[in-house]
Formats: sequence, C-alpha cells, structure tokens
Amino acid sequence: MTPRARPPLVLTISALAVLAGMLLVLQGRTAPAVRPSPGNETLYAELPIHATQTVPPATASTTEVALPILVYHIVRPSYPSDSAAVRALAQTPEVFDAQMQYLKDAGYHVVSFGALENYFRDGTPLPAKPVIISFDDGWGDQFNYAFPILEKYQYTATFFVFTNPIGKGGFMTWDDLRTLVKAGMTIGSHSRSHPYLTKITDPAVLWNEIDGSKKLLEQNLGITVNEFAYPFGQYNATTTALVRQAGYRSARGDFYTGKQFSNRLYMLSALNAPTTLAQFERRFPAQ
Ligand SMILES: [Zn+2]
Repeated sequence: MTPRARPPLVLTISALAVLAGMLLVLQGRTAPAVRPSPGNETLYAELPIHATQTVPPATASTTEVALPILVYHIVRPSYPSDSAAVRALAQTPEVFDAQMQYLKDAGYHVVSFGALENYFRDGTPLPAKPVIISFDDGWGDQFNYAFPILEKYQYTATFFVFTNPIGKGGFMTWDDLRTLVKAGMTIGSHSRSHPYLTKITDPAVLWNEIDGSKKLLEQNLGITVNEFAYPFGQYNATTTALVRQAGYRSARGDFYTGKQFSNRLYMLSALNAPTTLAQFERRFPAQ
C-alpha cells in the first residue's frame, strides 16, 4: 500500500468507530465497559536492573545465594485501552500460568521470604534453584486471576499491600487478604500510602508508613508481618534502619542481581517479572 492510500483508510476506520458509537447511542446502549486501569499508574514504576542507590559491598563474611525474587503487578486479561505503562508490567492469566509451569519444568523451587531469612540467619538449607514470587500493591486482579493459578501449582507467594486502599475500588478487601493467609500465602507491608519513603522528612510520618502499616495488617489479619517492600524499590540508610527497628525480618529493594547477600537482608534484589514466556525463559534458564 502506498503512503498516499493510508489517510483514507484511517479516515474509514475513524468513521466506522464514530458510526459504531452513534449506533450504540441510538440504540440506547452504553458502550461496552472498558475496565479502568486500577489507580495511579506511577505505582507501576519499573524496578531498575542497575542499582540506583548505595548498597554495601560484600565482605569476606558475606554469604550469597542465587535466588531471584520476581515481582508481579498486574495479572489479568489485557484490554485494548491498556496504556503502555500497564502493558510493560502486565501478564495475562495464560502467560502467568505458563511461567509458573515453566518454573516447575525447569527445576525451580518456589520458596518464601522466610526460607531466605532462615538461610541467612540460621543456615537452614534452601532447595535447589530457589525462587521467590511476590505481588505488589494489592490489586484485586491478583486475587482473582493469579491466586487460583498459584494454588494450582501449590506455590506460595508474598503479597505486598499498602494499607490505605484496602477494600477500595480495584483493590483486595480484608476478606481477600484473610483468604490468602488461610491458603498459605504471605502478606507483607508496602507502606500505608505508597510514598517515596526517601523523600519523607518527618520521622513520625515515616514511622507510621513503616511501622503503622505493619501493625494495621497484623491487627486485622491476626498474623505477624515479617517482610516489607519499599514503594518504588527506593530506600536509604534511614528507611532500612527503621524497617529493621520495626521488627521486619527482611525487606525487598529494587535492583536486580539474581543473587541475595547476607549483608543485604533489608535491601533484597528483585526484578519485575517478564511479560512474556519467551523473556521469562531467557531470564531463568533451565540449566
Ligand atoms: Zn508498589
């Protein structure tokens, strides 16, 4: 097709879309519901591969283990209205299922953060090729689409939720979280309001985000919350110290190394899960 032929085609498609819209109006029907993307898309900030902040160098006494931590945000069917930001972080249920099957076939063993903590603290052995699965922000789609697939494979996962929107539109309810707990999933804290913690200057506000969110989850769910995930993966010396002081046993940071280090239990390395099976297989080789 020559470039000259394109404008009429575009016009035709536009005209058809307008016509379709008019027909729907004429018929007294509303357009098919387009599912709104849940909340603020800045929450989907990428976790960078390279360190964006200072991390302590390994010392002679540092132990390390190859243990990728996967971060999922959106697992649900895709919609034509999905933005590029959503597409860059979303997996369809089919892709998520295929990734979970691949982990099994490639000999990976899904473990909890607790297993990693115990490995570093007490030397409790880890299985071969361990991997951690985590979900961020507490979107209801994770409960509806990813949770049943996790159960199918009998995998455990950690859901890092920020507490302010629990029960509000698009987010999981307290009952959803209780169901996850009953099924053996872990609930971690992702703060109260999902701020850039490193930009908060008021110590009381910072403490409430880190410790207040932990207490609220514990009171409402009857559990101990041992893990924290920094919003946007961002931390500094103050935030890691407060997370430790609040009683968390580990915290998930941002940049990806594929390994975890005993002197970085409060700066664990994580990556956003690839959005396709092919990318996933390249990132997690079978050998
Ligand atoms: Zn988040």
